[in-house]
Amino acid sequence: MFVSDCLNVNLRGHLTIGGCDTLELAEQFGTPLYVMDEATITQNCRKYVESIGTYYNSRGRVYYASKAFCCKEICRIMENAGMGLDVVSGGELYTAMSVGFPADRICFHGNNKTPGEINYALDCGVGRFVVDNLTELALLNTLALARNKKPSVLFRIKPGIDAHTHNFIRTGQIDSKFGLALETGEAEEAVRQAVALPGVSLTGMHCHIGSQIFDIAPFELAAEVMVNFMADMRDRHGADLTELNLGGGFGIQYVPGQNPVPYDRYMQAVSETVKKTCEARDMETPFIMLEPGRSIVASAGITLYTVGAVKDIPGVRTYVSVDGGMGDNPRYALYQAEYAAVVAGKAAEKPTETVTIAGKCCESGDLIQEHTAIQPVQAGDILAVFATGAYNYSMASNYNRIPRPATVMIRDRQPRVIIRRESFEDLVRNDV
Ligand SMILES: *Cc1c(COP(=O)(O)O)cnc(C)c1O
Repeated sequence: MFVSDCLNVNLRGHLTIGGCDTLELAEQFGTPLYVMDEATITQNCRKYVESIGTYYNSRGRVYYASKAFCCKEICRIMENAGMGLDVVSGGELYTAMSVGFPADRICFHGNNKTPGEINYALDCGVGRFVVDNLTELALLNTLALARNKKPSVLFRIKPGIDAHTHNFIRTGQIDSKFGLALETGEAEEAVRQAVALPGVSLTGMHCHIGSQIFDIAPFELAAEVMVNFMADMRDRHGADLTELNLGGGFGIQYVPGQNPVPYDRYMQAVSETVKKTCEARDMETPFIMLEPGRSIVASAGITLYTVGAVKDIPGVRTYVSVDGGMGDNPRYALYQAEYAAVVAGKAAEKPTETVTIAGKCCESGDLIQEHTAIQPVQAGDILAVFATGAYNYSMASNYNRIPRPATVMIRDRQPRVIIRRESFEDLVRNDV
């Protein structure tokens, strides 16, 4: 009925998440409110971890892409789930280290790591650096030597694959700020340099071909391209590459009708491609790394808002304004991301109205969704937007000096605050 299994309707006709009545959650914790179901997150982790066991003989690791949703508690949950962590900034790394996340299970990404971030990661003993470009390679080598370290390095490669996704979130193309291109010889030049550098140990290759992908074929093609490149680099430069990071990008259901590929089918198909290509190139199957972000947390989360003004413009449209908006969910404003919503107190009723859900920021583009079907709605109603567990809190801002919402995590029907609501004092904390 809904886009996620953790959502349901109780006898009062109210939307529930993880067995908790969303109207009660809104009453108890206030709105806007992010709510997440922990069982959904841990189940998603388990599926990935188990498929590494099944299809790669457990020779691999799943790294949660923490940019999807990063806070201390999610790092603790990931550690308990046996996951690794992918971080892309000093701040994400700091969050992980602040709860004692094992540094050897962290993979450090980013297309422009600063010297400060690199030094911090070296001091933490981060397990893998995914190096994006030649400037970073030289910098990392210098900084590592100065600290008497020799970090493991993977190269971020642009395999040049079109994953049929939205332009703004496509990253496997040659015209991308991320990674080293194969076609131009740039990636090979990086390998040639790296094998001669004393401060880095080149152990593997990485690619991430996009986000919210629903097809298996681009992942298979990327795996084939990557394994062949690794074999070429062995043959031409003697590079001993034993690790292959295939990135994330697995699609989820935001709105009814979207059909994500079951993880298992993806894992099976891609593992066969990897093994077949390795065999053809006389190469051992590498240690496989995956980096799902969205598909771990998105469907575990919803956002609860209180409806204010409902503005019916005859012959044009109806704006339903909520007490949040692009500050807590900028994804529609950024790239017209799709979302479905319900009036939480009427979750069992048919959606009969077509409305535009608007935020409270001073921007006409501050919309959560346009022309979406919901139940009849009026001021004071609680509105629930689905699948907001990824790239909402982590992309949130204080635009218009609106405090960021709290995040509540539910386990065994018990809600607990894992991120406190920001206060007005928080907003001026750094003002001088
Ligand atoms: C964003 C990103 C991910 C996670 O992508 P999802 O679509 O959230 O699964 C993984 N790896 C890299 C390098 C990324 O940039």
